[in-house]
Amino acid sequence: MATMTTPVATARIPGGAFLITTPSPDDCFFTEDFTDEHRQIAQTTNDFAVKEVLPNVASIEAKDFGLIRGLFKKAADLGLSAVDIPEDYGGLGMDKITSAIVVENFGNNGSFGTSFSAHTGIGTLPLVWYGTAEQKAKYLPKLADGTFVGAYALSESSSGSDALSAKTKAVLSEDGQTYTLNGEKMWITNGGFADIFTVFAQALVKEGKDAGKWRLTAFLIERGTPGFSNGHEEHKLGIRGSSTTPLILNDCVIPASNLLGEVGKGDKIAFNILNVGRYKLGNAVLGGSRTSFNNGLRYAKDRKAFGKSISEFGLIQEKLANMATGIFVSESICYRTVGMVSKSLEDVPKDDHVQIQKRIEGYAVECSIVKVAASEILDMVVDESLQIFGGYGYVEEFPAERSYRDARINRIFEGTNEINRLIITGMLIKSAMAGKLALMPAIKTIMDEVMAGPSEKEEREGPLAAEHDLLAAAKKLTLFAAGAAVQKYMMTLADQQEVMGALADMIISVYTMESAVLRAEKIAAAKGSAEIPVAMARVHAATAFDTVERSARTVIAAVADGDMARTQFAILRRLGKHEPADVIALRRQIAAYVIQAGKYTI
Ligand SMILES: Cc1cc2nc3c(=O)[nH]c(=O)nc-3n(C[C@H](O)[C@H](O)[C@H](O)COP(=O)(O)OP(=O)(O)OC[C@H]3O[C@@H](n4cnc5c(N)ncnc54)[C@H](O)[C@@H]3O)c2cc1C
Repeated sequence: MATMTTPVATARIPGGAFLITTPSPDDCFFTEDFTDEHRQIAQTTNDFAVKEVLPNVASIEAKDFGLIRGLFKKAADLGLSAVDIPEDYGGLGMDKITSAIVVENFGNNGSFGTSFSAHTGIGTLPLVWYGTAEQKAKYLPKLADGTFVGAYALSESSSGSDALSAKTKAVLSEDGQTYTLNGEKMWITNGGFADIFTVFAQALVKEGKDAGKWRLTAFLIERGTPGFSNGHEEHKLGIRGSSTTPLILNDCVIPASNLLGEVGKGDKIAFNILNVGRYKLGNAVLGGSRTSFNNGLRYAKDRKAFGKSISEFGLIQEKLANMATGIFVSESICYRTVGMVSKSLEDVPKDDHVQIQKRIEGYAVECSIVKVAASEILDMVVDESLQIFGGYGYVEEFPAERSYRDARINRIFEGTNEINRLIITGMLIKSAMAGKLALMPAIKTIMDEVMAGPSEKEEREGPLAAEHDLLAAAKKLTLFAAGAAVQKYMMTLADQQEVMGALADMIISVYTMESAVLRAEKIAAAKGSAEIPVAMARVHAATAFDTVERSARTVIAAVADGDMARTQFAILRRLGKHEPADVIALRRQIAAYVIQAGKYTI
């Protein structure tokens, strides 16, 4: 497989800017912009998932870790473990879009997909980014060729979201040659069979502003190190074929050279790795959504009730249309985001990992949006797919039951969706306060505009003209509500979590709406017409705008009262004024298309 350059001509757009800019379709990367190499890797991974993973699902679900490791090795032989590893260390050094494509195509089985993406993502990337040349030379070739499996151990029984308060301690020996670790990590994916672990522990900082304090620090620990063991396998609701265990560190002595990065800088490693983990989780659940949809669609076409295929019923068609639209939206935000990340890395030397993670950190808001939106779309899809199966959805013999159970973890790991919602609003407000993002001037413009009364509406043309109006209104409503909340709570806004959450829902809706609309337009421009993508963008814009309006009302009701509240509600009504689209007709059109196609396709 050849090394790839980053893709197509998209613009370099700063993180978080989507709220205050109006990008064009050509500024964004979508699935349709895949290069031939991207399509080839998608095909290779999909073939592997269908021919090697799916036939072994029963054994995978029964935790046959020998088999799973064998599959890892086979996938590695195809280069699929090496995508993110630099060429100097036995990897392929490919772009971020490629690694997103790989996890997406392994998303058709939750257990295998989770194990494999933990290995290639959070299990490998800390070494790629922060390892010394010696550490990389020792471990990366083995991680690339499937000899070793990686894992990432941040969480503990008393600290998951609050990861910085981990209790595991690492004490440097007096001669400075070794660290002794004591403590217990919890919930570690691949814990039962991984060979190399990035483990986070508190270590004493000797120099700098934190001198004398215990701060989170990352270490590399190999299985087989005395004092290191893994605990029992957790009995989980879903992804039962993945290994999840505690790690026990009992006077575990490792060479001081196993320190990863710097003492006290583990938080940077932990959080930067999570940004990648979040957008890649979006891709993994996208693959899961498509599989679950296709199963539900196939069943809907086959199942007869009242003398008809149930796919002929309006309420089943409505489900199929909503599921397919959700997948379209998920694809649009996942690849728009990884496209932006890839674009931002174009001028960064491949070995400048400090710059690479800084650039990715710039898209932390989009990474969290993708994590939240795609995992919640998956939940909707598996739920509706199970419903289509009726009673058969509720029993193990049919695939809907496992998909339903497997999906649920995605709202919990890689930062819970609550934590990610707080990150979305918090990071945007922080960037605005620091002057990095011109959000405050944009809020002021909106405030001035609404106070000045009704203005001339911009005339637009095209099949998505009304949705562009909705999008513009959604941005205004979001900025207006954010402005009102900042004005009321100032620096204490972060303490008003329900307001932060409502603002996050508005921000997520803006990003998903815009991504779907721009992608539909890009497809239309390339193909001459794009009836189904346009219909999907319209359906999504209508529902996302409902969320924006409802959340705006929630925020204003919380921050204003009396005459002020009445005035602000009137402003919301004015900003949100629109003629509703006929979503019933649009959904019927989408359903007819997917029923005819027999699978999700655009
Ligand atoms: C199957 C599985 C695999 C996992 N794999 C790994 C792995 O490989 N490596 C690893 O390090 N970890 C892993 N985890 C751990 C996972 O990341 C944590 O479970 C997750 O971060 C949540 O932490 P917690 O379970 O301690 O919940 P808590 O942090 O206790 O959260 C409980 C609830 O409170 C909410 N909450 C917490 N803090 C706040 C707040 N400030 N504001 C509002 N709400 C809040 C949460 O959203 C959640 O709803 C895995 C977990 C599971 C179940």
